[in-house]
Amino acid sequence: MIEQGPVTARLPFLASLGEAGRLLASTDWAATPLGPVPDWPDELVHAIATCLPSRVPMLLWWSADLVQLYNDAYAGMIGGKHPAAFGQRAAECWAEVWQDLGPLAERVLDGGGATYAEDLCLLLNRFGYEEETYWTFSYSPVHGEDGTALGVFVATTDTTSRVINERRLRVLRALGEISTTEADAGTLMTRAMAVFAGDPQDLPFAVVHEVTGDAAVVLATRGSPAALDLDAVRRVGHGGEAELVGGAAFVQQLEAPAPGRPAVVLTVGLNPHRAFDTGYRTFLELGAARLSTALADADAYRKERRRAEALTELDRAKSEFFANVSHELRTPLTLIAGPAEEALTDAAEPLPAVHRERLGMVLRNADRLRLLVDDLLDFARIEAGRLEPRLRQVDLAALTREIAGSYAPAVERAGLTLRVDCGDAPLPVPVDAGMWEKVVLNLLTNAVKYTFEGSVHVRLTATDGHVELAVADTGIGVPEEELPTLFRRFHRVRGNTGRSHEGAGIGLALVRELAELHGGSVGVSSREGAGSTFRVRLPRTAAVPDEEEPPDAV
Ligand code: ADP
Repeated sequence: MIEQGPVTARLPFLASLGEAGRLLASTDWAATPLGPVPDWPDELVHAIATCLPSRVPMLLWWSADLVQLYNDAYAGMIGGKHPAAFGQRAAECWAEVWQDLGPLAERVLDGGGATYAEDLCLLLNRFGYEEETYWTFSYSPVHGEDGTALGVFVATTDTTSRVINERRLRVLRALGEISTTEADAGTLMTRAMAVFAGDPQDLPFAVVHEVTGDAAVVLATRGSPAALDLDAVRRVGHGGEAELVGGAAFVQQLEAPAPGRPAVVLTVGLNPHRAFDTGYRTFLELGAARLSTALADADAYRKERRRAEALTELDRAKSEFFANVSHELRTPLTLIAGPAEEALTDAAEPLPAVHRERLGMVLRNADRLRLLVDDLLDFARIEAGRLEPRLRQVDLAALTREIAGSYAPAVERAGLTLRVDCGDAPLPVPVDAGMWEKVVLNLLTNAVKYTFEGSVHVRLTATDGHVELAVADTGIGVPEEELPTLFRRFHRVRGNTGRSHEGAGIGLALVRELAELHGGSVGVSSREGAGSTFRVRLPRTAAVPDEEEPPDAV
């Protein structure tokens, strides 16, 4: 209850002011620079009437002495300073930060107008320790009739939680984004320490240890460890609970990346200007959880890379084996074909017809086998990344016509008709002529091999920025379900019988690789029993850098 008397006579609204009202009534104002209430100027009474009922934190500093009055909302923000702060001089109440605030207040009193500060950091003692706090506030003058400032009106918000939470969230986010590639535990923790450096207030120092038995080996550090307790590190490393060391450091274990790995223990220094409350502890625990995940990721990455390396090595060995075998096959093939050819062309001692026929067969098959071996060798080279197209501008129409022409006898021997449409105009395209020959011959050989009657049609057309080769036949076709895998290496259509059984299933794969080396692509459409059309598309401008052409080669 507020006693009726001279104070309530002056401030009839007092009863509605809650605790602030009771304090206002019970303070002996005569003992303060404000003097007895009945003598207060109207401006003060009006200012109190405006400020104290508000639910927004507000403070009034009155007279040159800056005597304080504030509302209940404000009282809730200043901790242990309340209620002594009520009626106290500002300079006394805020002694620890007055060097920052005093000049701002003075400026307002001296007619400098209102001030504004956002998230100003003040080391404030409101809970028994010097605390890091943040404030957004404005000081504005309360004018007397003559225009002088009689007091200062303070509207303020405590932004401490927001500022601190934001910076802690930044750290957590950055910890989650640490790259775990190419990192062992040490590298990873060093990256984490760099992130910790972004919040030196909450993480003044940090040490990461790897604990095995009695040994604690430092993996990474940041700042100078003021409170390091190796016994605590070992205890935590051996599976103990997280520990608080002398209120100055927090020790916790990171989850071991894999069973059998040494325990990883993180010690972080604590902010001397913040209480180690639930928010702080959660922050550190979440940070440790992120680092545990990063350790596990890095471990998984390492394992994956080791696996990939082993596979690459296996692949390399396989390609090398291919290359070697192909080489070994070429020599005897040359030794078979050479004498056969000599015998066939020997004018001095001509062979009887029956032997000519036999040797002709030997020679043709040796040639076929050599083509196959060459394909294998090319393939091995492509796999090893050793086959690079030597691009030259060539008239692709003429080149294709010539290649198809050279194959015409084989088509005719098979009882098929060959049609070649390459247009009349020259078609300059950057290609490796040798590779293009392989592409065309491979498709033609297949067309003949898998066509028993009808025709083979070779067509070259130019489209928007591309040229397209289509080799169509009226052969056995390809079952629909086989189409998607047709260009895979070693893939052969099951139960598909061509004119001959030989084939390693690399012809089409090679065609695809060669097309792709030119920045091109391949495609097929086919109907079983009706025939197939294989297509190769190449860009008309080099997708791969043109080779430096020696001047005399043009
Ligand atoms: P192969 O050495 O077996 O001919 P390819 O890679 O050249 O290897 O061809 C793979 C498979 O695709 C062949 O086994 C065959 O079944 C099928 N194929 C290729 N070309 C044709 C075609 N023109 N008509 C029908 N099937 C074909």
